[in-house]
Amino acid sequence: MTATTATKSRLSLTLIRWFDSWAGAQDIPADAPQKIDWFRCLPFLLMHVACLGVVWVGWSWFAVIWAVALYALRMLAITGFYHRYFSHKSFKTSRVFQFVLAVAGNSSAQRGPLWWAGHHRHHHQESDQPDDVHSPKHHGLIWSHVGWIMSRPNFRTRLEKVPDLARYKELRFLDRFDILVPALLLACTFAIGAGLAAWAPQLGVTALQLTVWTVISTVVLFHGTFTINSLSHLFGSRRYDTPDTSRNNPLLALITMGEGWHNNHHHCPRAARSGLAFYEYDPTWWMLLVLEKLGLIWDLHPVPAQVMERARIRRRRTV
Ligand SMILES: [Zn+2]
Ligand SMILES: [Zn+2]
Repeated sequence: MTATTATKSRLSLTLIRWFDSWAGAQDIPADAPQKIDWFRCLPFLLMHVACLGVVWVGWSWFAVIWAVALYALRMLAITGFYHRYFSHKSFKTSRVFQFVLAVAGNSSAQRGPLWWAGHHRHHHQESDQPDDVHSPKHHGLIWSHVGWIMSRPNFRTRLEKVPDLARYKELRFLDRFDILVPALLLACTFAIGAGLAAWAPQLGVTALQLTVWTVISTVVLFHGTFTINSLSHLFGSRRYDTPDTSRNNPLLALITMGEGWHNNHHHCPRAARSGLAFYEYDPTWWMLLVLEKLGLIWDLHPVPAQVMERARIRRRRTV
């Protein structure tokens, strides 16, 4: 094979991988050099550039509220479903609702449920050890925030970490074609924007405007989620003496719907709630309680009594 042919086949494989994220990626050895794959990351980078489109499309109250609502709902899907359900099995549900949870998480464009859970389980097994791919202690702030997600070996779905999930063919499909749901969301957004422009022009919404604000919401959502890998292992307090650098940080809890109580979470990773003291707001936990009341999920994994007691004692000492 000549050098030109080899380059062409590499380029076409990368193009295929934008649509079929398993193509070629599953063969990459886990110990391959950690190097950013810029071409593979082009869609991710272009989404950041597309946010600048706001200069041309402007804003409307509807578009801003739409973006904020999409951020909040999809953050809850990441924290409640990708994190607490798929990664930690903090509660049980039916196979049908499990698929709904996977689609909701996938709409955040943070790859598929198996990819997300596989990498996160690895994080808990290797927390702040050299093999933890997003430890700020070992790899620095920028790498732990966003570099690792762009790195070639980390595109592989760690199927060996998620055998309990990989046996469902619908989850494997979503994971492999992880672009489908985000693309569908964008298409629906465009159609709704076009409809509002035609039938409710007083709102000042256009199809492109609503699409750009959805992209802005998605990009902010990326970085909101990423703070848990980077900042919540750097800034905040430590209630529990865990063998990692995890912290409790109220500001990060605010932007991540309760995931900022990350030291609590590393101490008790299977628990369905992360905020333990009464002032540790945890909207993800509140959402799970509602879903439990509706009968859609059950067997929420409790926080052990002695762990809750420790949180209460610490609160009494600090008041
Ligand atoms: Zn962590
Ligand atoms: Zn976790």
